[in-house]
Amino acid sequence: MVCIAPEAVLWFGEDMSPVPLRNNKAAASAVRSVTVLGATGSIGDSTMDLLRASPDRYRVEALTANSNVQALAKLAKEFSARFVAIADASRLADLKAALAGTSTECGAGESAVIEAGARPADWVMAAVSGAAGLKPALAAVDRGAHVALANKECLVCAGDFFMQRAAKAGACILPADSEHNALFQALASGNRDELVRVIITASGGPFRTWKPADIEQATLEQALKHPNWSMGQKITIDSASMMNKGLEVIEASYLFALAPDEIDVLVHPQSIIHGMVEFSDRSVMAQLGSPDMRTPIAHCLGWPDRIKGPAAKLDLAKIGQLTFEAPDFERFPGLRLAFDSLRTGKGATTVYNAANEVAVAAFIAGKIRFGAIARLVEATLDDWIRGGNQGPMTSADDAINVDHVARNKAAALLPQIALKAS
Ligand code: NDP
Repeated sequence: MVCIAPEAVLWFGEDMSPVPLRNNKAAASAVRSVTVLGATGSIGDSTMDLLRASPDRYRVEALTANSNVQALAKLAKEFSARFVAIADASRLADLKAALAGTSTECGAGESAVIEAGARPADWVMAAVSGAAGLKPALAAVDRGAHVALANKECLVCAGDFFMQRAAKAGACILPADSEHNALFQALASGNRDELVRVIITASGGPFRTWKPADIEQATLEQALKHPNWSMGQKITIDSASMMNKGLEVIEASYLFALAPDEIDVLVHPQSIIHGMVEFSDRSVMAQLGSPDMRTPIAHCLGWPDRIKGPAAKLDLAKIGQLTFEAPDFERFPGLRLAFDSLRTGKGATTVYNAANEVAVAAFIAGKIRFGAIARLVEATLDDWIRGGNQGPMTSADDAINVDHVARNKAAALLPQIALKAS
């Protein structure tokens, strides 16, 4: 259902036909109104940095956070946001106090975060972490906004449904994740029927060269030391387990309507090439850049034009060597499980994500070893497949329901997985 053609990637008209975005009103307007869902996080921070650099070009409509009132209020004041939402309803009084004397409206709870997505902004950054990001992003999609999608759970939990809603509303999904943004740029070099495969690169994370026994026992501190990228805690742990790459494989499949066999993963420790696309004539198009999330976000923010990005200029002579390795599905079983769940379909990727979120939270809380993260995901997936509850996902509630069932099951399986040695 996704058309891959120059100038038309992921963009649909009312009759579902691809429309060149350069004709689009929102893209053409001089001052673009912007909402940032998850403004206080790592992606939010990079986005605000880009907005800060061009105050004449962007106006902030809404900003959201989970519980970080002070950071949210500070941003609201700096950018004169029209509306801010805090997901933790118990922090509303603090937020109101922090915004006293300003004209910024505020709200609290899940509904307020969804309202932020629904408010009239041309461009929305969807960067809430986890499955909680689905409904607010859908609110932006449903009104046909340009949605820069960082929150991978929207696609992993509800990919088919999310993309169908985007097509129906004429929303434009711009991939903000660096690998998908790279594919998005490289895909414009050919047509869908000329595509052979996409290649998603992976740094390999901090445990790339570690022995299985050492990975099993890795500490939280070790898992949080990503060699190349500075990111939020959850995604950094997912990078160490390569679950993040698994989530990205699933994300790419839904975003670009690719079969699992059309997606390859390649370990590339320098994180300079972010993604490649191979076409039928064996040409391989790659996107390169310093590992800095402000580059793909700047691409989304400026699209269909290009704006000035603040990342360091790429100096390949200084870097000297770009190296590549095949991924190791044995030492990093989370990657294998992602392909398995994609092939199973019908909610399995939602289960994969939910079980991983439970496992990562348990690892952070010191309840399970690092190696048990993938074991818990596998056990939850096995249980769910045995239960025979698979079915099509036709609404956000279907996805959220499967997510809840999987979380409960993962939590129930947690004690026995915690006891089990590798
Ligand atoms: P962070 O943990 O740094 O930030 C998450 C943001 O979401 C914060 O603003 C947080 O608010 C808010 N938030 C958390 N939980 C909720 C909730 N239940 N309801 C509403 N808001 C909530 O995450 P990242 O910025 O690292 O990642 C955001 C998303 O982008 C994730 O899906 C991640 O996988 C994806 N991504 C991130 C990349 C990166 O480089 N960081 C790269 C590619 C994708 P508060 O500050 O109050 O807690």
